[in-house]
Amino acid sequence: MDLWFTEKHAPGVKLSIRVEKQLYCGQSEFQQIDVFESKEFGRFLTLDGYMMLTEKDEFIYHDMIVHVPMAVHPKVRRVLVIGGGDGGAVRELARYPEIEQIDLVEIDEEVVNVCREYLPFTACGFEDPRVKLHFQDGLKFVRRCENEYDLILVDSTDPFGPGEGLFTREFYGNCFKALKEDGIMVNQHESPFYSVDALAMQRAHKRIVQSFPISRVYQAHIPTYPSGHWLFGFASKKYHPLKDLDTKGWKELGISTRYYNTKLHRGAFALPNYVEELLRNVEHID
Ligand code: SAM
Repeated sequence: MDLWFTEKHAPGVKLSIRVEKQLYCGQSEFQQIDVFESKEFGRFLTLDGYMMLTEKDEFIYHDMIVHVPMAVHPKVRRVLVIGGGDGGAVRELARYPEIEQIDLVEIDEEVVNVCREYLPFTACGFEDPRVKLHFQDGLKFVRRCENEYDLILVDSTDPFGPGEGLFTREFYGNCFKALKEDGIMVNQHESPFYSVDALAMQRAHKRIVQSFPISRVYQAHIPTYPSGHWLFGFASKKYHPLKDLDTKGWKELGISTRYYNTKLHRGAFALPNYVEELLRNVEHID
């Protein structure tokens, strides 16, 4: 029998991956959780039928959400990860000895349990003593934080379902308040390519620009996400993602990565004209 996972990326576009085996299928309080095994992409996790990560290309997403801000901020001690229940971002953060505390706020404990069992390649950092897990809504968690974090990573699902609140102006304002005076927030910023994703990306960008004095967007190629062209937002109170990049300092840490390097860091902020235009179009709208 031929078994395929298919995700609709745009009204007339679908991505299909041939599945060898379904390893897990369950409905949590918040979403449908599935884990599949495939020849080309290895194991992969989907939530409500949307691709979250695959064994083959997760390193790109997790390198880019973590190492870009870590190579800019000179002294990260406390980090907040919102979402990220697969553990990939925590795994990369845990490689920095300078980090003292990592709070992971995941709304769905089942995602963490399932990833611990089926995706040990991402869920391998949870046992680090610096990591504290909080199973609650990230929107509520940040409301009561003030001047606590050097870095916030918003590693969320898309702006519908449980992730919807993590794309609101209220949320970005609370992240600003939760950061110290030189803090950085990085968020997964959707894709500029298909129109529905591009609208979500513009909406998020407009709200972040209104909440932070420095706000830049950078890109990566993630084959299993819609169009493969994915963006991240870099929002900051003080540090500029390029002017404050500490190439020498980051290289001296000796962290080996399969995707990120400091040359690519610079290049990732050079966006195609059509993306620049999409961003510019919303930057000054009230
Ligand atoms: N790399 C992924 C992507 O862009 O597709 C994101 C992966 S991670 C699995 C996303 C996590 O965010 C999910 O486990 C989901 O449960 C969590 N999440 C969604 N809404 C949330 C909220 N309001 N607060 C905390 N976590 C949330």
